[in-house]
Amino acid sequence: MFNSTYEPLFTSIVSRSINVVLCIVLLVYVLCNASLGRWVAIKKGYSSIAWFWICFFFGLFGLIALCAAPNKSLERTLREIRAAVFENANITSGREEEILRKNQIIRKTWICHECETINPESASFCKGCGKYR
Ligand SMILES: [Zn+2]
Repeated sequence: MFNSTYEPLFTSIVSRSINVVLCIVLLVYVLCNASLGRWVAIKKGYSSIAWFWICFFFGLFGLIALCAAPNKSLERTLREIRAAVFENANITSGREEEILRKNQIIRKTWICHECETINPESASFCKGCGKYR
């Protein structure tokens, strides 16, 4: 099929193109890892630039580390919910209260007979209407 004198040149072109293809594949893979790391970092409340480069250089190990790290953004939301529950103690629906109770966001509370405000266990007066417990 090929003339024997051209064969080494052909082989060298083929092997060079394989190398180029491999480099492109590797670069795409590394960029995918880094982009995925960046996205997860944003979702979890970490620095997107830092985690882009960590996942760029450490690949799968960086991603595993990021997945194992605590979700700061979720923790912040939980803190805000806890604060809101304890400060206002105004929960709109029974379902919400049930979820909060199950997840131990509100623990010991008492409900006012007058206005149905949920008060912390330590309060002797209702935060909603001021009635005595
Ligand atoms: Zn009350």
